[in-house]
Amino acid sequence: MNERGLLIVLSGPSGVGKGTVRQALFAQEDTKFEYSISVTTRKPREGERDGVDYFFKTREEFEEMIENNKLLEWAEYVGNYYGTPVDYVEKTLQEGKDVFLEIEVQGALQVRKAFPEGLFIFLAPPSLAELKNRIVTRGTETEALIENRMKAAKEEIELMDAYDYVVENDSIELACEKIKAIVLAEHLRRDRVAPRYKKMLEVE
Ligand code: 5GP
Repeated sequence: MNERGLLIVLSGPSGVGKGTVRQALFAQEDTKFEYSISVTTRKPREGERDGVDYFFKTREEFEEMIENNKLLEWAEYVGNYYGTPVDYVEKTLQEGKDVFLEIEVQGALQVRKAFPEGLFIFLAPPSLAELKNRIVTRGTETEALIENRMKAAKEEIELMDAYDYVVENDSIELACEKIKAIVLAEHLRRDRVAPRYKKMLEVE
């Protein structure tokens, strides 16, 4: 039997560039994860294809999926539903392949509960670490604006608590490299590797 695959969850605050990083990752030939295509009730954007970018559904169809426990997680985001089909995730992990989810933060928290053994990567805005520095040195922002920005940044940092790794999206290429390195390292963890060795040495 195959060793179970890893469930990789890429998430982070709205507007951080999750979709762009995910697309860049999957455009690379050596990417070995399987992308889990989400279900959504939002209308397709130009160029988006059903079954490739999303499975586009009506609200009724989506709600039926919720009722029938067909979703690993779901969330309402800017007036539309988004969710991850559970059957695909289970089947693919069972086949020993890594599954990659790119979802917003509410959904990621639900996955964390259902799959605590998953690999949770937080994509952080590039400006976060530097934020205060920049705001203070620039000196052009009003007090209220600085406070608002700092508040938003603090909330984002608090969201990180539910994740295993933080990748700053300072450059798309670097972010992709970091994500691949994290996945590789996760595969090499002793608790994943040791059982394989022990099995190998089992005497018939
Ligand atoms: P967009 O409409 O721009 O494609 O996506 C909006 C947001 O929904 C993004 O933050 C994206 O990560 C998130 N999203 C996409 N698919 C899912 C999903 O299956 N579940 C959840 N919770 N969020 C999703």
